[in-house]
Amino acid sequence: MSSSSDIAVARQSVLDRMAAAAREAGRDPGDVTLVAVSKQQPDERIDAMLAAGQRVFGENRVQEARVRWADRRAGVELRLIGPLQTNKAREALALFDVIETVDRESLARTLADEIQRAGAAPRLYVQVNTGEEVQKAGVRPHLADAFIAACRAKDLIIDGLMCIPPELEPPERHFALLAKIAQRNGLAKLSMGMSADYEAAIAFGATSVRVGSARFGGRLPR
Ligand SMILES: *Cc1c(COP(=O)(O)O)cnc(C)c1O
Repeated sequence: MSSSSDIAVARQSVLDRMAAAAREAGRDPGDVTLVAVSKQQPDERIDAMLAAGQRVFGENRVQEARVRWADRRAGVELRLIGPLQTNKAREALALFDVIETVDRESLARTLADEIQRAGAAPRLYVQVNTGEEVQKAGVRPHLADAFIAACRAKDLIIDGLMCIPPELEPPERHFALLAKIAQRNGLAKLSMGMSADYEAAIAFGATSVRVGSARFGGRLPR
């Protein structure tokens, strides 16, 4: 999968499966956004994706995203889906429309300061480490309510939650947990589901799915 027509076909196939999954769950297909994960993809695939009509992209590194999108940024919505270092918060706010990985006090504090300084209005999601994996970013589930409250106390507007379930577990329990935490905190947006499980995520209420390899083909090594 690499020619631009292959990419357009793969994209449409994902969109069709997303719509079917939404209808099956009694949801409006228009309520689920496809985020194309463009990390580690060669430029020609990005351009093919743009030509196919894709406008929402996810990146997991600030630096890589800045280089890739320098000449392509117009009309595109960019989402940060990888961990954010506090010292890159300013740069991330300048580049991204959505930051999905707010997960600790020091970052929330820095974002609040930088948002005020720059007059920025990013959409923010809190990342929840639903599997409580030591190597993974995200606030632990039992601390999520308190963390969301702490963000709000800093005048951060939190739109939703994001999770990356453990690779080797069925994801459904994690999707359900994320939806439950969102519901009790009055959060409308749920970023969950990747290439292997986006249909299941939609059944559990995902409002955006982050799909990389299923649309683009394999990634380049870093
Ligand atoms: C890479 C990545 C994805 C996409 O993964 P695929 O399995 O290629 O669809 C989704 N979310 C995050 C946070 C990622 O880093």
